[in-house]
Amino acid sequence: MASSHEDAHFSDPTKSLLPNSSSSSPGPRTALIHTKSLILISSIVISSTSFVAAVAFAFLLLSSPTVLHLARPLSKLPRPTVILMSFDGFRFGYHLKAPTPNIRRLISNGTSAEDGLIPVFPSITFPNQYSIATGLFPPHHGIINNYFSDPVSGDRFFTTNNDPKWWLGEPLWQTVARHGLHAAAIFWAGCEVKKGSWTCPPKFCPKYNCFTFEERVDAALGFFDLPAENVPVLVMLYFQDPDSQGHVFGPDHPEITKAVARMDAVLGRLIAGLEQRNIFEDVTIILLGDHGMAGTCDEKYIFLEELFPWIHIGSDWVFSADTLLTIQPPPEISSQEALAKMRQGLSSGKVRNGDKLRVFLKEDLPESFHYAASERIPSIVGIVEEGYMVKYKREKQRYGCGGGHGYDHSLMSMRSFFVAHGPRLPQGKQIPSFQNVEVYNLVTAILKLDGAPNNGSSVFPSSILLQENP
Ligand SMILES: [Zn+2]
Repeated sequence: MASSHEDAHFSDPTKSLLPNSSSSSPGPRTALIHTKSLILISSIVISSTSFVAAVAFAFLLLSSPTVLHLARPLSKLPRPTVILMSFDGFRFGYHLKAPTPNIRRLISNGTSAEDGLIPVFPSITFPNQYSIATGLFPPHHGIINNYFSDPVSGDRFFTTNNDPKWWLGEPLWQTVARHGLHAAAIFWAGCEVKKGSWTCPPKFCPKYNCFTFEERVDAALGFFDLPAENVPVLVMLYFQDPDSQGHVFGPDHPEITKAVARMDAVLGRLIAGLEQRNIFEDVTIILLGDHGMAGTCDEKYIFLEELFPWIHIGSDWVFSADTLLTIQPPPEISSQEALAKMRQGLSSGKVRNGDKLRVFLKEDLPESFHYAASERIPSIVGIVEEGYMVKYKREKQRYGCGGGHGYDHSLMSMRSFFVAHGPRLPQGKQIPSFQNVEVYNLVTAILKLDGAPNNGSSVFPSSILLQENP
């Protein structure tokens, strides 16, 4: 649970501490310090304006490894401020499906994850939205699925349940409140849970889904019209599209293209509002999604009832199915025994698509899944091959085509995107992909707050952020 380098899911963070070639041109957003060049510039001005000297100077300036990029100072806001926006189910690459001038503008002028943002397992909304908020893997923050049960009390969790007993860890809004500052969170998973210093004040934490997308943006912009001491330093905004369209139509449908264009317009509305207030360059916008989307079609199903000759799985053993199978056999049946029988059936060649489902005791899942250390996780976890779905039994209705997520988080189709734009973000820089538990430390570093212990790497923020003027 504590920060550790081993837990980091990105390639060598020290590499990106070096100036990046793609951002080395002196743009309007970065300052350059180069002592040799300063000496040279003096001598050039004093002694000569010759072409040769000018070329030599330009060459030194552009090629020197000692050039440092510095963060831009704030011009209007009194302190660093972050707007964190999440588009549900925004699969990596969606921004190429439609004209997305606003997303592209942030990518060109900010920092983006080259091959997308890696979700936590399972690649499902609530576990991921809350991992982004807390920097914790699901077993540590407690939201191990969108729906689950407490094996001790038998109580059931559902997504609108705001009892703090379910929601572990310290989400960003609570971290901000702990420092006596204001945070706002609009419809982010867990934000209506009152915990620690966080009271979910109505003006900064409205009840779920009472606003249109445009109203969410306008509410966020309105916060910046408050007296300076009341302006939140963190605004977290959640949008449920294009996930909705992805489930119904699949990731390659024209409806996705329309939904992506709309989300870009929502971002454009935010940027325009910030520009009207002359604070666009002061605010850090972090734009990301919780997970991707895979097409599910062609009746690619695995029916648990076809395993009945080996083991009769009770419907009440099945805690989740479709893209993520979780099974908890009753106490009188050992999980090892149930697992062995399931494997026999799946490998028999008699269960349709049996080779597309791999079942594990949760503690035997590959470590990178981080999906064992909670009693809320049922004892047997099934990893479903991309595009396939597990159903309990064959129904008469046709299932048709659509989209799903929840699969192995390392699949490219499960990745979302990450773009950050602000005073401390290099311009036009691409960074290696990383897992979304790193976002918590990035936000607390920008806000200059002491974060709570989490699974992100403590060196991640310094591998991305520009140094500030000493
Ligand atoms: Zn979804």
